[in-house]
Formats: sequence, C-alpha cells, structure tokens
Amino acid sequence: MKVLNFGSLNIDYTYQVEHIVNPKETISSLGLEVFPGGKGLNQSIALAKAGAEVYHAGLIGEDGLFLKEVCSSNHVHTDYIKESDTRTGNAIIQVSSAGENSIILFPGANRQNTKAYVDEVLGHFEEGDILLLQNEINEVDYLIEKGKEKGMTVAFNPSPFDDYVRKCDLTKVDLFFVNEVEGEQITGEKLPENIIACMREQFPEAEIVLTLGENGAIWSGKNENIAVPAVPAEAVDTTAAGDTFTGYFLAAVIEGRNKRQALERAAMASAMAVAKKGASISIPWKEEVDQKIGSE
Ligand code: ATP
Repeated sequence: MKVLNFGSLNIDYTYQVEHIVNPKETISSLGLEVFPGGKGLNQSIALAKAGAEVYHAGLIGEDGLFLKEVCSSNHVHTDYIKESDTRTGNAIIQVSSAGENSIILFPGANRQNTKAYVDEVLGHFEEGDILLLQNEINEVDYLIEKGKEKGMTVAFNPSPFDDYVRKCDLTKVDLFFVNEVEGEQITGEKLPENIIACMREQFPEAEIVLTLGENGAIWSGKNENIAVPAVPAEAVDTTAAGDTFTGYFLAAVIEGRNKRQALERAAMASAMAVAKKGASISIPWKEEVDQKIGSE
C-alpha cells in the first residue's frame, strides 16, 4: 500500500531579531537560518521516517530545488514533485529575543496546482492506496473528489482551517486528523468529547484522530473511541508535533498495527519531536522510536 501526500513544500526563512519589526522601522537581524518546511513536506518526512512508502507531490520553484534533496535524503519518493515558474512557497519568520514570533506566508508554487497535474499524478496510484492532504495547497477539493472516485483512502488534515475547507465536500473524507482548534472550527464545540460526538454525527462513516497537545489524542471509529495520553516530554519546540503524529499514526496502521498501538507509537514519536528543536529535523526515525518503546 502506497501513500501519496499531495501537499506543500516551503522554505522557512527564520530571522533572529531583537524585537519584531515595527511599522516604518528598518532593523538588522541578528541571524538568519533557512529550513525546509510546510505541513506537506513535514508529514511526508514523518511517514518516510516511520517506514512508510510515501510519494510526495507538489510544486516548487527554482529556488526550492534543495527541498527535493531534503525529501529524498529522508526516503520520500520525489518522482511526482514538479517545478513551477513561480517561486517556492516560503515563510518569513521573525523570532525575537523575548521568544515572540511573527510570520508572513507566501504560498507561491504551492497554489499553482492544476487539475491536469492532479490527474497525471493520481494516474500512478490505485484503489486502496492512501491520499493524504492538508490545506496549504490549491485544488484540495478536486483532490478529495478524484481520490475518492479512484477508491483511495482519503486522509485530510484541514490545517490551516479556513472558509475554503468549509466549501470542500468533507463527506468524502475517510480519515480526519484535527487538533483542538480545527475540531472547534469544524463543530463549534470546545470539549474534546463534544468535538468527537459532533464530528461522528457529521461524518458517520469517517475515522477521526483528534490530537490534544500535552493531553494526548483520541481516535474515533464508527463504534469505538480510544484515547491515549501524551508521553511526558520536556517540550523545547512543538513545531511539527501534529505532523509527526499524523505520519507515525498512518505508517503504523499501514504496517497492520491496531489503532491503540498506532496512537501509542504516534504519541511516542511526537513526544520525541517536541523534545528537539526544528521541524522535519526533529522527527525521529523508526528505529529510535522502536528503541524508546522497547525501553519503556
Ligand atoms: P503543531 O501544529 O505544533 O504541529 P498540532 O496542534 O497539530 O501541533 P498537537 O495536538 O499540539 O498538534 O500535538 C500532536 C501530538 O503531539 C499530541 O497528541 C501529543 O501526543 C504530542 N505532543 C504535543 N505537545 C506535547 C508535549 N508538550 N509533550 C508531549 N507530547 C506532546
């Protein structure tokens, strides 16, 4: 079983600044670091590090060719990543000495997907394969529709949540990955049990994974809910915690593990990711997770 992750590929430019720049002000930064980013890229890397056969599809500009290298060096198949005339999606991130941040996102190539490109990529996949999506690219609605039509399992992480997601036909989604914020945006409910109950009503056929930060996660199927606690961790940087959880959960299910085991592996992997700085670089490899679980 293969996974096609049709998602964003970003370059994150992180500027260290004394304070976040004010209107009319010009400041010099104390440093600049460039990181691979985007929920799409992070989730593909999480899947691959967890041992799944994952193909990433998405667009990059000439400035983002190194992202392809980053993906392949992390065992993600890059055959369907394509070059666009538009610059690669990027984020300009200011991190102040006080630890505050501000972010400007430029979607760039991530929003240049066409129906023809979607059709071409989907042509390489078949019934039973998994199609994973987030909301950082265009044509998500078309991808859901066509993926479902092909008999693929459609997994959707509606993040960041916006009006576009409301217009998508979410009844075609087989598996949702949502955090508390997205859960509330979909249902209007705040409490985890109410979010689950409401989503069960709206999407009776779907499976739901609701992540609750340091309070763990809940999987909900047609007749059963399973909750697992988070693995205690000294949180250094929670970036990509959710992406790690998604990748590890899916990879474990593909390996034939049951839902509880999949949740527990995902909780362990994401706890390891929050204990380390960075996004995709903080995602642990399968062997490291196995070792940690073995030693518990
Ligand atoms: P992000 O947007 O930062 O990637 P998210 O909001 O999508 O994250 P969360 O619900 O915050 O996702 O976290 C996903 C999972 O990561 C949680 O279910 C939990 O298992 C783990 N996790 C998150 N924060 C912590 C923490 N402080 N300590 C241990 N585990 C954590």
